[in-house]
Amino acid sequence: MGLTRIGLAGLAVMGQNLALNIAEKGFPISVYNRTTSKVDETVERANVEGNLPVYGFHDPASFVHSIQKPRVIIMLVKAGAPVDQTIATLSAHMEEGDCIIDGGNEWYENTERREKAMAELGLLYLGMGVSGGEEGARNGPSLMPGGSYEAYKNIEDILLKVAAQVADSGPCVTYVGKGGSGNFVKMVHNGIEYGDMQLIAEAYDVLKSVGKLSNEELQAVFSEWNKGELLSFLIEITSDIFGIKDDKGEGYLVDKVLDKTGMKGTGKWTVQQAADLSVAAPTIAASLDSRFLSGLKEERVEAAKVFKLGGFSDILSSQPVDKAKLIEDVRQALYASKICSYAQGMNLIRAKSMEKGWDLKLGELARIWKGGCIIRAIFLDRIKKAYDRNPELPSLLVDPEFAKEILDRQSAWRRVICLAINAGISTPGMSASLAYFDTYRRERVPANLVQAQRDYFGAHTYERIDMPGSFHTEWFKIA
Ligand code: NAP
Repeated sequence: MGLTRIGLAGLAVMGQNLALNIAEKGFPISVYNRTTSKVDETVERANVEGNLPVYGFHDPASFVHSIQKPRVIIMLVKAGAPVDQTIATLSAHMEEGDCIIDGGNEWYENTERREKAMAELGLLYLGMGVSGGEEGARNGPSLMPGGSYEAYKNIEDILLKVAAQVADSGPCVTYVGKGGSGNFVKMVHNGIEYGDMQLIAEAYDVLKSVGKLSNEELQAVFSEWNKGELLSFLIEITSDIFGIKDDKGEGYLVDKVLDKTGMKGTGKWTVQQAADLSVAAPTIAASLDSRFLSGLKEERVEAAKVFKLGGFSDILSSQPVDKAKLIEDVRQALYASKICSYAQGMNLIRAKSMEKGWDLKLGELARIWKGGCIIRAIFLDRIKKAYDRNPELPSLLVDPEFAKEILDRQSAWRRVICLAINAGISTPGMSASLAYFDTYRRERVPANLVQAQRDYFGAHTYERIDMPGSFHTEWFKIA
């Protein structure tokens, strides 16, 4: 065997599949994992899946030395300390000009710290968001590399072939920007994913709880929605989920799944970053809060007993519902809410880009999310076009096309939320989106009163609408 073109360390779900994808695209690859049985498993899979050029190594030195210079190694291990440990193991055998790429969901500041430490050793470093889960890694993910541009150029040819390919807009990869920008963008992508999933879950809840749709009907509705403006991976898999029967009992599997959502941290980081940067992201925050509340299953079971006499089931059964109209209203409410959620995510990326001087291109990010990743959707093409029309767009909400789409849908959107409120069904994501829109579109909001209160009790001063300057009033003396 000659030297391979690239190496990959960390052969769990993501690493194993990405290694096979890279090999399948014609790049011989060396693989390594701390637990060596996974190395053998990967090589075995490579043989079974078409004698792919995957070469396994049980020790880090021979793994590193098997790669052609300048060496490039992608790491796909658990974020945090395992990344530091893997870097220490590998870098001991690497030479000046070699490069390490962290493909995990890493906190962007860790990437910036490591990039600096690597530079002192003469090594290059990239933090590369990888989206698409197992299937994406194997057949074409969306890739968000950020950090050393030189390192990116060293493997651009590989990434362009390995990434998902979208017919009208090319491979789903771009050099995102400097520092930890690749990880940051992947983090916000995941936050947006939380929003999408929550909004879809609320649509399901309203249709099921208020509209009394069966799983068969839900499957048909989501399948129909997937032919129009909502066409996306998440709508498609949602439709599939409604059709799956329980293989361990009667009925449908979705009804047997415990209503408790897990999480790994990127959604929480997104909301924390939004707060740090003073960017409103209420839809994404509502999605995170919903996951927290879902985790209180035992408490909710007890609370349901406390409020049993509240008449909530009577409210639900007394709702007169025109199914066809409800389905169309919910579709429109979902779409309008989604616009608000993406506006929040994009604004968060832009705020960070300005703070860090990353110069991120929002339209280009929408382009690389069009394929491969979990939030892939026809809708992203509209976002790309909005930023193409105006790269300085302050918010997607004021893009002329999105503004019109929201206005066209606002009656349906308000009807769905009123219906849900009256039926006692919570729609935190849709409601947060509507409140975001209703706040953003209003010239005057009640912040004058909050500012007056601040000045009353804390002498924080206020500005006036009719004259420049900063004012303080001794409110309590006048009152
Ligand atoms: P994972 O479960 O996050 O991590 C398992 C891998 O980490 C194994 O190779 C394991 O090695 C290695 N590891 C753990 N602790 C280690 C240590 N102290 N030193 C060296 N290696 C260590 O794997 P994954 O699900 O494939 O994800 C990999 C990365 O991609 C993560 O950052 C994840 O957040 C991100 N990601 C995952 C998905 C997904 O759908 N799963 C999607 C996008 C991004 P051993 O086998 O020796 O334990």
